[in-house]
Amino acid sequence: MVENVIIIGSGPAGWSAAIYAARAELKPLLFEGAITEENRLQGTLPLGQLALTTEVENYAGFPTGDLKQFLTTAIDSERAQYMNIHEGRHAVTGPELMELMRQQAYNFGTRIVTDDVVEIDLSKRPFVLRTLDGGTHQTHALIVATGARANYLGLPSESAFKNRGVSACAVCDGALPRFRNKPLIVVGGGDSAVEEATYLTKYASKVHMIHRRDKLRASMIMQERALGNPKIQIEWNHTLDEVLGNEKDGVTGVRLRSAVNNATRELPASGVFLAIGHTPNTDFLKGQLDLTEKGYIRWTKPFRTETSVEGVFAAGDVADDNYRQAITSAGTGCMAALDAERWLAAQGNH
Ligand code: NAP
Repeated sequence: MVENVIIIGSGPAGWSAAIYAARAELKPLLFEGAITEENRLQGTLPLGQLALTTEVENYAGFPTGDLKQFLTTAIDSERAQYMNIHEGRHAVTGPELMELMRQQAYNFGTRIVTDDVVEIDLSKRPFVLRTLDGGTHQTHALIVATGARANYLGLPSESAFKNRGVSACAVCDGALPRFRNKPLIVVGGGDSAVEEATYLTKYASKVHMIHRRDKLRASMIMQERALGNPKIQIEWNHTLDEVLGNEKDGVTGVRLRSAVNNATRELPASGVFLAIGHTPNTDFLKGQLDLTEKGYIRWTKPFRTETSVEGVFAAGDVADDNYRQAITSAGTGCMAALDAERWLAAQGNH
């Protein structure tokens, strides 16, 4: 059987593409990713980066409210029972928002497979995809919405304290009580690091930016913002050597190492935020689509989701290193489905 369209990815881009494709009666097949230890460790489990966050206050249409009844009536009880739906008023959480999108795509007839696509062949038509469990699938059109993952340094202590003080998203986690009025650490010297550090000054008593060089990579305006903020202290020429903490309190501090003389010193902190860039999830493409210099899938036309291979469309963070928001990903997911539908129609396949 040849599919009309296969969608790879289960973040806002993938689900939005699926909702539009399903409503266009394309009967999409969506691979949401496999539940494996490797995916857990690198943050690429089904439902994507949003599933790793807490409350989402900036997704239009979800003001804070008592969502329990809505969530338990909208989401199939089989899945809702495993969700940790808060009592009382709260903003929708990342996992809740993703379950809602998944449900909506399912309700319109999206077929969902809990597996990873590990290999594709774009040289043939229809395209051929192979999954982790060894299955093969053929499709006329393909939407790649595999997202990106935050980079971590790879320290064992860093993964040990993930979700207990170590985060790669200040906007997602910064307002948590554990970070309030306490010193915090941001690692990195780019625009993201400055943005995260500036954001965290709303909550923290002080933010130490740990940068491995003596010059920031961030743009001039962002540099001025960091240097001019009395709550931000830049620890030049230092790397993060170890995250310190214990079972009961989570993160309690960090050990830094000087890049100049290798000396170490410790700083107290209740949180460590990594801002050392993201990696788009494109490994399975093995060079078959044009990528940008930064490794993101290249959109070949302005305001379109076409890629370098006709019939392959890209949506969300895998093709966007600039906005990287849930709502912009959802928007490009919708665009990809519309672009795919039009392309299929032009081919006489729909
Ligand atoms: P980035 O520009 O690649 O910066 C990454 C930073 O992390 C660099 O300072 C780098 O140090 C440091 N780093 C990387 N690997 C490291 C490691 N293993 N150990 C220690 N430090 C490490 O990434 P980004 O800040 O996420 O920005 C990505 C893109 O988005 C950029 O084009 C940026 O302009 C854009 N962006 C814009 C805004 C804005 O304008 N508001 C906000 C966020 C992002 P080195 O400097 O030594 O390489």
